[in-house]
Amino acid sequence: MIADKLSNNHNKKAFREKTLREDLKSNFKSLYLLHNQTNQYLDIMAKIKGSIVVAQERCKGCEVCISACPCDVLALSDKVNGKGYHYAMMAQPDKCTGCASCAIICPDSCIVVYRQKVE
Ligand code: SF4
Ligand code: SF4
Repeated sequence: MIADKLSNNHNKKAFREKTLREDLKSNFKSLYLLHNQTNQYLDIMAKIKGSIVVAQERCKGCEVCISACPCDVLALSDKVNGKGYHYAMMAQPDKCTGCASCAIICPDSCIVVYRQKVE
């Protein structure tokens, strides 16, 4: 009886360890793939220069695009449009990677992104 119980516990422990090992293996595989994909993406992005065009007359100066830009490219212009809003502009154009975060987040679709391959 006791021997049965010990053998049962041993089997359960072995099963848990096997499952844990398989989980770890699968997680490492996913991490490895993600790491490779990220490196490939960064390689591609390093060879791309971006620029944007803002539809100045439609921009309401809400600054959402400025917060969304990961490269600190955007700022509000000192000038105002026909409706009296300071509109978004590229304050540091050389930093733009063309990631399109600004265009995606703009609630009024005022931004068009261009990407150019750099050799
Ligand atoms: S998110 Fe759009 S509307 Fe708001 S400031 Fe940027 S360009 Fe203008
Ligand atoms: S495309 Fe990306 S990097 Fe360029 S201004 Fe927009 S958010 Fe910034």
